[in-house]
Amino acid sequence: MKNTIIDTQNPPLEGRVIKTSPDDNVAIVVTPSGLKRGSIVMGTTVLLEDIPMGHKVALQSLETGDEVRRYGQVIGYATRTIEKGSWVNEGNISLPEPPKLEDIKFIASPVARSLFFPAGLEEASFMGYRNADGSVGTKNVLAITTSVQCVAGITNYIENKIRKELLPLYPNVDDVVAFNHSYGCGIAIDAPGAIVPIRTIKNITQNPNFGGEVMIIGLGCEKLRPEKIAPMLGEGGASILYLQDERFEGFYEMVDGIMEMAETHLQKLNQRRRTPCSVSDLVVGMQCGGSDAFSGLTGNPVSGFAADLIVKAGGTVFFSEVTEVRDAIHLLVPRAIDETVAQKLKDEMAWYDNYLYQGQADRSANTTPGNKGGGLSNIVEKALGSVAKSGTSPIVDVVSPGEKVRKKGLNFVATPASDFACGTLQLAAGMNMHVFITGRGTPYGLNMVPVIKVSSNSKLANRWHDLIDFDAGPVAFGDKTIEDMGWELFRLILEIASGTKKVATDKLRLYNDLVLFNPGPLT
Ligand code: CA
Repeated sequence: MKNTIIDTQNPPLEGRVIKTSPDDNVAIVVTPSGLKRGSIVMGTTVLLEDIPMGHKVALQSLETGDEVRRYGQVIGYATRTIEKGSWVNEGNISLPEPPKLEDIKFIASPVARSLFFPAGLEEASFMGYRNADGSVGTKNVLAITTSVQCVAGITNYIENKIRKELLPLYPNVDDVVAFNHSYGCGIAIDAPGAIVPIRTIKNITQNPNFGGEVMIIGLGCEKLRPEKIAPMLGEGGASILYLQDERFEGFYEMVDGIMEMAETHLQKLNQRRRTPCSVSDLVVGMQCGGSDAFSGLTGNPVSGFAADLIVKAGGTVFFSEVTEVRDAIHLLVPRAIDETVAQKLKDEMAWYDNYLYQGQADRSANTTPGNKGGGLSNIVEKALGSVAKSGTSPIVDVVSPGEKVRKKGLNFVATPASDFACGTLQLAAGMNMHVFITGRGTPYGLNMVPVIKVSSNSKLANRWHDLIDFDAGPVAFGDKTIEDMGWELFRLILEIASGTKKVATDKLRLYNDLVLFNPGPLT
């Protein structure tokens, strides 16, 4: 205990805390056993009482009504005087009720863009597959899109056959993927909600990793016409085959027909080569699932820092999961780049509120006793932990479920929080890289884009050593900073995007089914 002149019999311990943003006035205790009264944190703050792990310590004295800031945002107001070094919890801060959507006003203000352009960012690049439309792939994949679930048995059969018999002949093609789904027939295709699954299928078919070489297998009598999901048809990119085509006599002739079609696409895909691409060509979807108390402390802010780097370098990042951001919406609206984007953000929240209401559900917004025990004082703080993965950039656009992103920069892509529905809609939005943060652990993986799994704690990363790609846990124990780890994650994203390193789920071929979000009725 150097530099300590206090009680030498019981020297104060330097406690481990995390401050998530430079202007926060509270920090979070991360020492697993909590911190004892008298511990010193952040150099000058002496704890006035014991504070458990995950809970907040005041870094400055607060008067009644003063803002309590975490994640660079107001999470509440002091309800009485709080001395520097005190425990800040639901007992001494007020819960700021999220205002009604119609009450949230967008005030045009100079968007707080940091002029700081970190060294090393300018020269960052990756090796990707540039497509004719300007998009860039991170994998070279033959996609077999389907217009109806009826054909799934055959497309699964074909996928296996192509992988075994044809892929060895086309070494530059990474994989073949049958995009099966439950949509296409027995659906109210003219219902307003039908637009969501239809454009989702259409836009997934245009994911940059498929290089425009898309084959669509239809049955023939389905409601969803394959032509509706093949916008590039006639431009040489996609081709359509119907199983009910009368030229096919039996199963094996269909198989031959599809294999022949696959070869023409494989020949073109095999000519794709990786070329140097800029970070501005990255389209990164951020999602979390199986979160824990550390997610908002480590995995999400680290991912948010990497997101900021990508956005600063001109790339595209999006975050999603409406029900997880709903309670922080009054803090997200001011981050919108203009009034139109602010309104779109509110419209998506209103649409989802109504969707839940129609289903006689609500977002069950209240923090649970478990959340509070873990140090989350209120729902605003909880939601901010989730949106921390979006970083601090201004929100340049809002994309409805199933739509493609239109603008570079940070986007909000409206999706349910369900991992599979969200991942599916993020694929439709055009992501070529997926970052997925988990604390409890999930083997979640997608076969169309690499999924980098970020662990919020080292315990999980050690136990699931072959399933987790990146351990953000060291942040919690002061071994590394959010900035250091944000840079590490950023560099890993570039390596994975370049194909020089593989994610765990690609090594093990652990892939989830895609789940279409269909707000429309079945018939
Ligand atoms: Ca999720």
